[in-house]
Amino acid sequence: MAGNITLTMIKPDAVKNNHIGGILKMINEAGFRIQAMKYTRMTREVAGAFYAVHKERPFYGELVDFMSSGPIVAAVLVKDNAVEDFRKLIGATNPAEAADDTIRKMYATSIGENAVHGSDSDENAAIEAGFHFSAYERF
Ligand code: ATP
Ligand code: MG
Repeated sequence: MAGNITLTMIKPDAVKNNHIGGILKMINEAGFRIQAMKYTRMTREVAGAFYAVHKERPFYGELVDFMSSGPIVAAVLVKDNAVEDFRKLIGATNPAEAADDTIRKMYATSIGENAVHGSDSDENAAIEAGFHFSAYERF
């Protein structure tokens, strides 16, 4: 059965470009409920741990530098079929390939600086939600 949570981060590019409000509006209008949310900044070490699955990929260093380059908004979102529906809402990794009316089409600038993160499986959603939030921060 599909899980009902996903973990998102509004990435440093979108925060810097004042897109927090626009992105949260799209998230709410798509029917996601916010269960937890924080404005924070990952150190290089924390960003490296979050993206450890990508350690062997050629863009890992660039990704860790970027994700620790400024503040982010992390949030746990609730909806039936959350992981799949949220990945539809954010669009393709490369904004040039993202469908119309997706968050990345609207707000991302490049494949590296692509505005938002979305979990890629129910298992990773649970891990990533636990990475950013304790049980006492989720309502
Ligand atoms: P995310 O995990 O952030 O939601 P995604 O699942 O669409 O994105 P992944 O393949 O998991 O894409 O890659 C993680 C992140 O690494 C991407 O969102 C992007 O910021 C960065 N990235 C991926 N591919 C490249 C690339 N070829 N060059 C630079 N950065 C990349
Ligand atoms: Mg991913």
